[in-house]
Amino acid sequence: MIYLTPGPTQLYPGLEEAMLDCLRRDVGSISHRSGAFQKIYAETENNLRTLLGLPEDWHVLFLPSATEAWERIPRSLVLRRSDHLVCGAFSKKFYEFAVGLGLEVGKWEAPTGQGVTPLMVQAPKETELLAITHNETSTGVQCPALDITKLSEAYPHALVAVDAVSSLPYPAFDYHAIDTAFFSVQKCFGLPAGLGVWLVGPRAVEKAEKLQSVGHNPGPHHNLLSLVKMAKKHQNPNTPNVLGIDLLGYVTAAMLRKGIDTIRTETELKAKLLYDFASKSDVFTPSVAVEAHRSRTVVVLDTKLSSAKVNELLEPFGMKVGSGYGDKKDSQLRIANFPMHSVETIEALCQQLQIQQAYA
Ligand SMILES: *Cc1c(COP(=O)(O)O)cnc(C)c1O
Repeated sequence: MIYLTPGPTQLYPGLEEAMLDCLRRDVGSISHRSGAFQKIYAETENNLRTLLGLPEDWHVLFLPSATEAWERIPRSLVLRRSDHLVCGAFSKKFYEFAVGLGLEVGKWEAPTGQGVTPLMVQAPKETELLAITHNETSTGVQCPALDITKLSEAYPHALVAVDAVSSLPYPAFDYHAIDTAFFSVQKCFGLPAGLGVWLVGPRAVEKAEKLQSVGHNPGPHHNLLSLVKMAKKHQNPNTPNVLGIDLLGYVTAAMLRKGIDTIRTETELKAKLLYDFASKSDVFTPSVAVEAHRSRTVVVLDTKLSSAKVNELLEPFGMKVGSGYGDKKDSQLRIANFPMHSVETIEALCQQLQIQQAYA
């Protein structure tokens, strides 16, 4: 079965052999304080740095999941106020975490299926953090990388935090315009769940240090500074997902061999195949109207056939797509367009959806 679901999803090719290799190298047994682990951390970190074009002064931190970053970021970096761009369930949760921490929080929300444009954000100039979801996995709305740069320029005093959980490594961010970003490995990296990656730039570290110096309490669990301190030694404060970090090293090495430019070009080509097909169909329609806001990595289509019926018809052909999110479970499809999904697979999917139209 090929899983075109938006995470967990199809595993990256070659993982079976990579997992066996982990077992043979005792990756599940080595100490997380050993040189062997530090080497694994360093290698995965270096691969990610090259793949994403991450500047030398950025840190690569490991968390149990991206959800944790929703809390760590406002808790470590905001004293009073953060502002959130909301365009679906995931960006809303990021906002709710900040509310739950007792901060003063601004919410700049787009109607369902639309993106938040920079003009819609009217945060006070002194806001400390702009939280932007690059790819909203529930609605298939993306925030163009250029809009993120524009917002960063409009709020020079604010840190910019980007949830890129279901899009990295696709977006080519200007890392000088943002201060922190994060993702989970079960989306575009095609790994089993249980590892979040938190990327942290120098302005974020500076802010956390400044808050620490005025006695701000970032909570009893890890915070940005405790994680950075250990990351400098290629370690984690807790026992991390060593297997996941090693396998991420494998996947990022494979992506580097393929080339980030090829990955980006293919992602755009496959997204275009799906949107072009749906634009001509009477049964499947792109649910995001504005082209610039259509996600390139999670293609959401309105469907006249129920998502369950679509998957029932796809099953004999060895494919499975994601259903809609929440109350759109039946009436939308969420189709993952991640690096492990080949052009041939997306072409085959379009062909099957074409045939399925007769059932509507
Ligand atoms: C999946 C997802 C998350 C949460 O990731 P977890 O690994 O479940 O913690 C956060 N944000 C977005 C946009 C996501 O797609």
